[in-house]
Amino acid sequence: MEQKDRKYWNMDVEPLLNTPEIRGSQMGRLPRAIRYCYENVPFERRRMDAAGVKPEDLRSFEDFQRAFKPVGQTEFRQVFEEFELDMDKVWLHLFGKDRMDDLFLLTTTSGTTGVPTPYPVFHKTTDTMAELFGRIGWRAGMRPGDKLAVGFGLSMHAAGTPHLFWYKRSYGVTLIPIGAEAGTERILTYMKLFKATMFSGTPSLALHLIERAQEVLGAPIRSLGLKTLLLGAEPGAGIPEVRSRLENEYGAGVFDIGAGYGVSCGHPEYQGMHWIADDHCMYELIDPETLEPVPLTHGAIGQACFTPLEPESGIFFHHLRFTLNDIHQVFTDPCPCGFSGFRYKIVGRADDMLKVKGTPVYPAAIQGVINGFVPRITGAFRIVLTEKPPRVVPPLKLKVEFGETVREADLPGLEREIVEKMHRMLHIRPAITWLKPFTLERASKKTQFLEKQYE
Ligand SMILES: [Zn+2]
Repeated sequence: MEQKDRKYWNMDVEPLLNTPEIRGSQMGRLPRAIRYCYENVPFERRRMDAAGVKPEDLRSFEDFQRAFKPVGQTEFRQVFEEFELDMDKVWLHLFGKDRMDDLFLLTTTSGTTGVPTPYPVFHKTTDTMAELFGRIGWRAGMRPGDKLAVGFGLSMHAAGTPHLFWYKRSYGVTLIPIGAEAGTERILTYMKLFKATMFSGTPSLALHLIERAQEVLGAPIRSLGLKTLLLGAEPGAGIPEVRSRLENEYGAGVFDIGAGYGVSCGHPEYQGMHWIADDHCMYELIDPETLEPVPLTHGAIGQACFTPLEPESGIFFHHLRFTLNDIHQVFTDPCPCGFSGFRYKIVGRADDMLKVKGTPVYPAAIQGVINGFVPRITGAFRIVLTEKPPRVVPPLKLKVEFGETVREADLPGLEREIVEKMHRMLHIRPAITWLKPFTLERASKKTQFLEKQYE
């Protein structure tokens, strides 16, 4: 891979992302993926048996969608229970002998629910990783000569150790596996000593490093001269205030990765993550309540589902129609940054959904629109629910604090603007009740957006 100034890592595939051609090729490859799963993976064969179908019965994408109800954590937990946590049996059932013979690394996510989500890495996976993360790194400006300090957890962390294979074909790029476990002092010290040019890790760690820099390095974090931060595993890089703070303090470009095969772009306004893997993985949205498909149109919102087109070498998604329960909003119109691939933003979790006269609405999506009106409003708001969710009888009721500099006479005009934008972006026309600035209680940790009046 030479030509340092080419636009994409993969000039054959990436210009085709999000085009009818590449979608056509997905349809061509799906039957092989289904047959592989049926023949090799007991978990998948059982799904097909339960639906009463064989691979050859699935003649269209609609057949495929009907036959496979999306699966995720819940189904995995059932498998753990069925095999009484005998992990050898669990792996064999979930992934099949063919892949288990090719098993290379066993990692997990940190598993907040007690049972960790398995993230196996197969030898064949490492090739897919090298390709897809080559694309991601290239878009984030990674070039030969760069040194990437790995600040994700390295112990049993799905994003940490596998990193070492993510960039294995990015010749000229050096990885420095420091790991979150090393602690902020050593991370800072080694980044300085080894002259790292890029950092990958969680946004909260990146923020924490800013606070410690003066004490440990005797200089602000900017003195490290990092050019790029690749951040993931939690929201942050997509939150405007967090991103601008990181960019300003580090003097570096900030890129959001994760929750799928995607990376954000350098456009000054966050545009979501560009999906860069149409040739490896099929992306769908579904309605989290009815599980019906949601067409991938500009602005569509739904629960994201992933189907690997080469299951034997998948990275995070190994099953047909696998879901992380994340709710995404997609943008299929061309991005102003000029890069290919539709974009997705994470707007919530499936269990957060409200339904306003059939229209799914997520608190995080409302927050996104609200944030766009700061400083004319403070950004604090509540969604007032008079009945148990998800059903909401319209209009959706919002309490919104106006900004300190706004005159009450200007509120009707501001209200119209917000309602119009909500209608355009989210297809709802909320009823707004204005509150004086700083009336609502501020939470120190996770902000609660719902005011449950029915309780
Ligand atoms: Zn873009």
